[in-house]
Amino acid sequence: MKLVLLGAPGAGKGTQAVRIAKNQGIPHISTGDIFRKNLKEETPVGLTAKAYLAKGQLVPDGVVVEIVRLRLLEDDCKNGFLLDGFPRTLAQAEALKAIAAPDAVINLDADLDALAKRLSGRRVCGGCGESYHVDLGSPEVCTKCGGAVIQREDDKAETVAARLLVYKAETAPLIDFYRAEGLLVNIDGMQDIDAVSAAIRQALRRL
Ligand code: ADP
Ligand code: ADP
Ligand code: ZN
Repeated sequence: MKLVLLGAPGAGKGTQAVRIAKNQGIPHISTGDIFRKNLKEETPVGLTAKAYLAKGQLVPDGVVVEIVRLRLLEDDCKNGFLLDGFPRTLAQAEALKAIAAPDAVINLDADLDALAKRLSGRRVCGGCGESYHVDLGSPEVCTKCGGAVIQREDDKAETVAARLLVYKAETAPLIDFYRAEGLLVNIDGMQDIDAVSAAIRQALRRL
C-alpha cells in the first residue's frame, strides 16, 4: 500500500508512522529524518537544507521532490511505502501524483494550539529517531537502540511558531486537495497514542 501521513508539526506523524510501517511491512520514509541525517553527515543536501531547517522553513520543492523520487525507486518500496512529512506543498503533492500516486492519505487532525506543547516537550533519539515526550516519561537513553535522547534544535519555541505558520499556509491546503481526490482518511490525532494507532488500523482495514 502506498500511504501518506499528513499532519501539522507535532501531530504525531513520526510516532504513528513507526507503528503503521511495522504493521503493514512497508518502509517508513521521513523527509525530516533524511534531512537531519544529511545535515549530520554534512552532505551537499545537508548543507542546502541547513538554513531552512534552522528557521523552520520548507526546503525548496525541487530539492525535496528529487530526494523522494530517488528514494521511491529503491527496492524496498516495490510493495508500497509510508511517507511521513511529504508532501508538504501543493507542488509536492502534484509531483508525487506523477511519481507514485498514493492509495490513501491519513490526516492526523490536531488542535494547532495544543501542538506547541507537544513540540516543546518532544525529545528524540539521535540514533534511531524514536520520539519521546517529557510528559510521558522521556528516558535519557533510547529504549530502542541505546542512543542519546536529545531535543531537536527546531523544537525550541521561536522555531516552533514559525513551523506552525508554515504548516497553515503551505501544508493545510493539502487536506482539501486529497479530499477532492477521494483519498483522505481523517483521524482524530488528539486522542492518546494507542487510540490513534487503533483508529488508523481500523481505517486501513476498511480501505
Ligand atoms: P510529528 O512527527 O507529527 O512532528 P511526533 O510523532 O514526533 O510528531 O510527536 C510529537 C510529540 O508529541 C512527541 O514528543 C510525541 O511523543 C508526542 N505525541 C505523539 N502523539 C501523541 C499523542 N497522541 N498524545 C500525546 N502526545 C503525543
Ligand atoms: P515535523 O513534522 O515535526 O515538523 P519534520 O521532521 O517532518 O518535522 O521536518 C523537519 C524540517 O525538515 C521541516 O521544518 C523542513 O525544514 C524540512 N522538511 C521536511 N520535510 C519537508 C518537505 N516535504 N518539504 C520541505 N521541507 C521539508
Ligand atoms: Zn534510538
